[in-house]
Amino acid sequence: MNLIFIAPPAAGKGTYCTLLKEKYGFNHISAGDVLREQVSSGSEIGNIVKNIMAKGEMVNDDLMAKLIEIKLNSLDLNVPFMLDGYPRKINQVKDYERILKKLNLDVDKVLFINIDKETGLKRILGRVTCPKCNKGYNTLTGYMSPKVEGICDDCKIPLVKRTDDTKEAYEKRFDIYLNSTKEVLNYYKEKGKVIEIDGTKDPTTGFKELEILLGVK
Ligand SMILES: [Zn+2]
Repeated sequence: MNLIFIAPPAAGKGTYCTLLKEKYGFNHISAGDVLREQVSSGSEIGNIVKNIMAKGEMVNDDLMAKLIEIKLNSLDLNVPFMLDGYPRKINQVKDYERILKKLNLDVDKVLFINIDKETGLKRILGRVTCPKCNKGYNTLTGYMSPKVEGICDDCKIPLVKRTDDTKEAYEKRFDIYLNSTKEVLNYYKEKGKVIEIDGTKDPTTGFKELEILLGVK
């Protein structure tokens, strides 16, 4: 099984990824990691990417497709995988489907974690972490709150704020994300492949829904 992940910032993607990985052994392919891996490998194509990024430019669709193809070819595709951060526009969808076809695969499902801007903002602004054990909490969402306000449940020490995001920065990131993925989402909606999860819920509750919708439980 293979999935494409579409999730605006603060939709809880990290939790879903971790659970899919831990419970079902999914490989997580992040477009950003694919770029970084190639750059640090020092491969020929990695050096091309490095030069483009050094100039502050974007990797074009052809090159991105090539990198995704290399990555997929390096994996055991009998293991389920999820792709995150790619494809982000219709041209990339076409590229990706061409790559999958060569591998005798097709996109199985597109996982869309739907969250409204306001809830996302609460998550971002409410994030606090324990400086000792790194456990994350949230003071604004109504779940993931520490038992005693401002104190780590385990270490009994004060929690610290984790985000540099301001309201404006978050809202801008959110809008850019939704605009850039809208076409991809609509394309797969028409094909009946989109699984929509209510991202305003606690991700562990949302994950139970996802398991049912994916038919893995
Ligand atoms: Zn702690």
